[in-house]
Amino acid sequence: MRGGTMRTYGAWINGEARPGRGELVELVEPATGRPFARLAQCAPEDLEEAVDAAWRAHEESGWRSWAPLERAQVLNRCADALRREAQTIARLETQNVGRPLKETLRNVELAADAFAYFASLTTHIRGATVPMGPGLFDYTLREPYGVCGIITPWNNPIVLSAWKVAAGLAAGNALVVKPATLTPISLMRIAELLDESGLPAGLLNLVPGPGSAIGDRLVRHPRIRKVSFTGSTEVGKNVMRGAAGHLARVSLELGGKSPSIVFADADIRLAADGAIPAMFANAGQMCTARSRILVADDVYEDFLELLVERVRRLRIGDPFEPATDIGPVISEQQMHAVLGFLERARRDGATVAVGGGRAQGPGLDSGFFVQPTVLVDVSDVMEVVCEEVFGPVVVVDRFATEEEAILRSNSSRYGLSATIWTRDLARAHRVAARLEAGTVTVNTTKVSYVYAPFGGYKESGLGRELGLEGLAEFLQYKNVIVSVPPA
Ligand code: NAD
Repeated sequence: MRGGTMRTYGAWINGEARPGRGELVELVEPATGRPFARLAQCAPEDLEEAVDAAWRAHEESGWRSWAPLERAQVLNRCADALRREAQTIARLETQNVGRPLKETLRNVELAADAFAYFASLTTHIRGATVPMGPGLFDYTLREPYGVCGIITPWNNPIVLSAWKVAAGLAAGNALVVKPATLTPISLMRIAELLDESGLPAGLLNLVPGPGSAIGDRLVRHPRIRKVSFTGSTEVGKNVMRGAAGHLARVSLELGGKSPSIVFADADIRLAADGAIPAMFANAGQMCTARSRILVADDVYEDFLELLVERVRRLRIGDPFEPATDIGPVISEQQMHAVLGFLERARRDGATVAVGGGRAQGPGLDSGFFVQPTVLVDVSDVMEVVCEEVFGPVVVVDRFATEEEAILRSNSSRYGLSATIWTRDLARAHRVAARLEAGTVTVNTTKVSYVYAPFGGYKESGLGRELGLEGLAEFLQYKNVIVSVPPA
């Protein structure tokens, strides 16, 4: 994958790839610190063209009124193409994001699953009849918004984009997508595959560019009827303010500081095994990272020992190597942000149980590698316990009672996900019911399946992705009242 000529990526507007008119930037491979491609970003004129193309396609292609199975066919072809090209696309994603190849291969599958799942839902978009008494016949229609704006983050570009693009198109909308500047590549391939799968030109447009310019403009654009955003909580709040100007609908998938609670009756080996993917996949750069582990007093020492032992065994290195567990973080800036958190945590009194700094050594020095880190001796007011680090850093603390574990978990301003480890069935359901989180898992760690709604409580978001609820985010209701006078 490495080497060769540098390709220049750009916009995808009205079914064609072309350079944006904005600034040309280099895309840097996180594992090596070297540029590997260029991105010709969009300028405001490109965004205008994309919005025009999307409305034209929405009005002229008739996509919204295609037979549901015909829309499904396009999305299913895209799912099949993704699976066929999984190796190539995963390698592109690994080079761009730095995520280990074994994870990006899985992610291409998950993106394909999203297209296949939302394809199946096209046949479930239906309204209802509403009894109103004599003389009236009432029915509801579920209609697309028209043109929707989508903004995605850099950490899991292929999956997070696929969730929104598949749902938005299945619902019959046209889309203008502003991908993360650092990681636009896999979505470019999805656009080409959808085109080859028969999606009418203009229904999907990509406008890479700076968030503060192109992203903000997209959100405020008066002809964008709905904005679906995934990214940080702070930018999400800006998006909501921007969309309020013309009351565009918003859904927001934002940050998190998700707890994992290990009760004394848990299988602590299973909990320690689970902590690894829940925290260290993608070098911890996951909104759902269970980055705060609360452990019952009785098992605290034993659990910590098991966790530290597992973290020590993680192999940091070239994400293209099959043995690699932890690749680099996305950028030099992100690496310094994570190291800054570690420095302040130490200053606040936290102790490093394992890791704690930049990972260096042969093959690592020019990339942006951070050691997987476990911090102990923390308190609930510390920055590292309250804020999202978005790197491979987990804090472990102890608790005495179930009530305390619940209250302390809920003290976060976030509420994206939570995991409970216990063998007590009643406790599992009792605690799950009280945790303020959009997804709670019990004795397992994976938080998102295409079939079920995914999203945040509190400052972790608004609205849902995936499941029937995820499709509903891209649809609005119309009620039709018909006079049926007596003969
Ligand atoms: P970010 O908020 O910095 O950027 C996200 C996207 O918004 C990017 O495309 C960016 O260019 C754009 N953007 C930036 N400023 C903007 C503005 N003023 N108006 C409109 N768009 C703007 O987030 P990031 O650093 O790319 O991603 C990491 C964050 O995303 C973390 O906080 C993480 O928790 C969150 N995230 C959430 C989920 C979820 O499903 N809840 C999933 C993945 C990531």
